[in-house]
Amino acid sequence: MKRRQIFAGNWKMYNTAAEARALIEGILKGSSTPDGREIIIFPPFTSLATAASLCEDTGISVGAQNMYFEEEGAFTGEISALMLKDAGCRYVLLGHSERRHIFGEIDSDINKKVKAAFKHGIWPMLCVGELLEERESGKTSDVISAQLKNGLSGIEKGQLEQLVIAYEPVWAIGTGKVATPDIANSVHRMIRSCLSDMFGADADPVPILYGGSVKPDNIDGLYAMEDIDGALVGGASLKADSFLAIASVR
Ligand code: PEP
Repeated sequence: MKRRQIFAGNWKMYNTAAEARALIEGILKGSSTPDGREIIIFPPFTSLATAASLCEDTGISVGAQNMYFEEEGAFTGEISALMLKDAGCRYVLLGHSERRHIFGEIDSDINKKVKAAFKHGIWPMLCVGELLEERESGKTSDVISAQLKNGLSGIEKGQLEQLVIAYEPVWAIGTGKVATPDIANSVHRMIRSCLSDMFGADADPVPILYGGSVKPDNIDGLYAMEDIDGALVGGASLKADSFLAIASVR
């Protein structure tokens, strides 16, 4: 089945608004990506409105790197789905490993965020992935299926068209240790089978992206795999030329 092909850049905690503007202008000026391919950038909160206005009518979508599940209230330091919508976001990244492992986010909170995002018309990109010790002790599949089952609990089949999954092995994020195409593809296949156990054929169109040290020189092998529908790129998305080189892979 032909699914949406998506290349996304997670800027993490990098770029002031002026730097964000320069990077977006570089992306817009650079080489165009193949037709039909979706490009998403996830700048920090402070650059979202700038990014959304620069990307309007360009075909590039903007998303936030996190949000809180409540709509408003006394939640100092938090940002809601309504606020993301107001800033021009289409997407939100949820359950990124840095949120899980540095900030202690757990599946039940991530599930509330996924539901709140859908409720307000923000499309969630749910990140899942195992730690090195979980992989080495043969727990990859248990860990990821629990993240999917808990994170997507209560989601309706009709919402799946707006869902994206990113498989990001924690041991490959920011480490330079990319998963081999075979390892990544076998986990993508497992994720697909888990989604189909949960939702049946309605889950078939959900794109599954690979993330973890994706660079221009390793994207070819990954993207050649049948079950990899694109990439979530961290470090290499901070330069227009490397992000575009990845997003232009054939
Ligand atoms: C990420 O932050 O989602 C990521 C995959 O980072 P990197 O590409 O730098 O490993």
